[in-house]
Amino acid sequence: MPELPEVETTVRGLARYLDGARLVRVEPRRADLRRPFPVDLVQALTGATVSGLGRRAKYGLIHTDRGQTMVFHLGMSGRWRIDPEDIGKHDHLVLETGSGHILSLNDPRRFGSVDLVEEAALARWPAFAAMGPEPVGEELTDSHLKSALAGRSAAIKLMLLDQRIVAGLGNIYVCEALFRAGIDPRKAAGKVSGAALAKLVPAIKAVIAEAIAAGGSTLRDYAQPDGQLGYFSKQFDVYDRTGEPCSRCSTPIARLPQGGRSTWYCAKCQK
Ligand SMILES: [Zn+2]
Repeated sequence: MPELPEVETTVRGLARYLDGARLVRVEPRRADLRRPFPVDLVQALTGATVSGLGRRAKYGLIHTDRGQTMVFHLGMSGRWRIDPEDIGKHDHLVLETGSGHILSLNDPRRFGSVDLVEEAALARWPAFAAMGPEPVGEELTDSHLKSALAGRSAAIKLMLLDQRIVAGLGNIYVCEALFRAGIDPRKAAGKVSGAALAKLVPAIKAVIAEAIAAGGSTLRDYAQPDGQLGYFSKQFDVYDRTGEPCSRCSTPIARLPQGGRSTWYCAKCQK
């Protein structure tokens, strides 16, 4: 599924076509994705000018000069197609800009979403209101993690997937960051030392930044907004590498079920 780096890549790709552009056509091609499209979507966005794009966790933000922001989520299989040759049955929302570009939100499994939110109320929007800091940038600090995890007995792996602790961190990046910081994913979150948290924060920022630089990494058929096919140039240290040798100590990478998902880690390097 598209993770934060894919969403960031998508937003940067969309910005090339949308930033400053006027939306001359807004066409939902069905009533809903995971939930219905906003009833006033067409009216609210047709004729509006895009005043900027952004991202919060795994949501993309398309701000307009009307004080309203279109908030999209790519769900399991969503992607934006730029100037597609034809509009297919999985293209559920089509935007056309004043310069004639067509942008199509394509989502075969329809777990994605599109919402309209007053820009001034974005921070209070229910999905955002309780969200922790972004994993990239200045907000995430080891003192934030220390206070957020204090006294928590749940495994550190599971706490890092909790959006209230850190926003938008997915399974891949939690596994990779814990490996880099040398932290056992099963360890009680409140028992992770301050020294380990001080290694974890830069590890989180580095794995996300590297994935963004690589252009996102997770979905085999993921395409960049300009239609280039996905890439698997990013090599993970532990994620999905059961039985392969650890890049540091050659111990076979172990897989562990945690919270209904898999965790990969090195039992020797992560304590
Ligand atoms: Zn190792």
